[in-house]
Amino acid sequence: IVDPAPILSIENVQKYFGGVKAVDGISLEVARGTVHALIGPNGSGKTTTLNVLNGIYKSTGGKIVFDGLDITAMAPHERAGLGIGRTFQNIRLFPAMSVIENVMVGAQRDNNPIEPGREALRARALSALKFVDMADKAELIVRNLPYGHQRLVEIARALAGHPKFLLLDEPAAGLNQTEKKGLGELLKRLRGHGLTVFLIEHDIGLIEQVSDRITVLNFGKKIAEGTPVEVLRHPDVIAAYLGE
Ligand code: ADP
Repeated sequence: IVDPAPILSIENVQKYFGGVKAVDGISLEVARGTVHALIGPNGSGKTTTLNVLNGIYKSTGGKIVFDGLDITAMAPHERAGLGIGRTFQNIRLFPAMSVIENVMVGAQRDNNPIEPGREALRARALSALKFVDMADKAELIVRNLPYGHQRLVEIARALAGHPKFLLLDEPAAGLNQTEKKGLGELLKRLRGHGLTVFLIEHDIGLIEQVSDRITVLNFGKKIAEGTPVEVLRHPDVIAAYLGE
């Protein structure tokens, strides 16, 4: 039986940079075991919202509840310890290290009172690499990999921390059509394993393919929310994108 409470709820969250209201009172809920996309034109507040969720930014106002806990004031490493994993818009791997060494870094989740041994970390990293179909590349040096594979290593690194909730910042950026299709399949497999995925993405094709729900931002506010069919034909959404 799936817990019916949303895994994440944000209530009237604001993030101001001086006079700039980057996030201007957003409320939304993310249901457990779903893929939920955050979209909107450039400058609409997507990245700021993500950084408020992972704790890089402290919100100016509002409340964030994750898995029943108020995390509004928690530091990023505390949120990671609760099971919030993430990837970055620009790949942040150690290019001179091997694939598996990079993923092992992610397997050392913060707040773990018992430090797993190196063999346990390796095993965990390898199983994350298997999940993204990169186990055969484990010993390769990251800088020699094509970009699409580096993206998969980044996802594996986040998965190795055994998150419940995965934040992805534009995972399809720089991928070709085949890689995008593969990414879509991977996101569905993650959902199939009970993970909740919250992603910012510009590629509308991918969003249509994978999202259970979409929230649309414009000027720091939510302008639409619903299933892909409901949202992508919403006149306000079309107008926001045409005005970009
Ligand atoms: P998006 O990710 O949708 O493109 P952002 O969240 O990056 O939008 O930005 C939302 C607004 O906040 C923009 O007007 C942007 O210029 C502003 N902004 C974002 N980050 C900062 C910052 N660190 N300092 C000042 N303004 C910022």
